[in-house]
Amino acid sequence: MPELPEVETVRRGLQPVMEGARFTRVEARRGDLRWPLPKDFAARLEGKTVAGLGRRAKYLLADLSSGDVLLMHLGMSGSFRVAHARAGFGEATPGAYYHERGKDAAHDHVVFHMSSGARISFNDPRRFGSMKIVARGELEQEPLLRALGPEPLGNAFDAAMLARACRGKMTSLKAALSDQKVVAGLGNIYVCEALHRARLSPRRRASTIASRAGAPKERAQALVDAIKAVLNDAIAAGGSSLRDHRRTDGELGLFQHNFRVYDRAGMPCPTPGCSGTIRRAVQTGRSTFFCPVCQK
Ligand SMILES: [Zn+2]
Repeated sequence: MPELPEVETVRRGLQPVMEGARFTRVEARRGDLRWPLPKDFAARLEGKTVAGLGRRAKYLLADLSSGDVLLMHLGMSGSFRVAHARAGFGEATPGAYYHERGKDAAHDHVVFHMSSGARISFNDPRRFGSMKIVARGELEQEPLLRALGPEPLGNAFDAAMLARACRGKMTSLKAALSDQKVVAGLGNIYVCEALHRARLSPRRRASTIASRAGAPKERAQALVDAIKAVLNDAIAAGGSSLRDHRRTDGELGLFQHNFRVYDRAGMPCPTPGCSGTIRRAVQTGRSTFFCPVCQK
């Protein structure tokens, strides 16, 4: 499943061809994504200009001149492909990180023709992706967004906030960080990577990063720093893939080469001076990768 850095990279890849551009034509080839597209989907987009392309957790939000907001989610297998009408620009698939991207045009379910000359195709073989149009004034009440916790790269997300959220929590740190209400959009990969960087065991009880009154311990600061660092590193790696527009497969800047623990069971721990071996365990139904020696 695409995770936050990948979605941010997709946003940065789409921004130059969407922001300030108008939808000249919209093809909704298959209406049955995760939920049906509204009947007036194309009509509500055509002729409208994208004032800005933002992101909240793993949702892309295109702010439209009509006062509507187009919400887009990549689901399990969704990707965007950008083709330019002008010769020589080629195609690009921003945001390919760890997961294979569909290339079969039969799965291009939605196509945006933009006044920038770009044709943006949404490809999604498994159709867990989704698009929804919401009036800007109703965004606060939008059920998809309302329950989301703080944005991990936002200024509001700090040690004090994380400690408050984990205060008294008897669940593991792994489970707490995977909870969208504690911090939004942090997926399995980056939870594992952040815990390793912070040298905290995924099995540690979440409440142990806070005092009984909910004040942050040093561990909370280490964890927040690790979360921001790993996400920023991954976004930077994705950003490097965006600079080369001739690539069509999006295979550049794969952050997986920088994973320290994820999918590396049996490999030596990369922490300097640590003699541990990365181990895989299952926690709340998901794979957890960690070093039993340096993560306490
Ligand atoms: Zn280690």
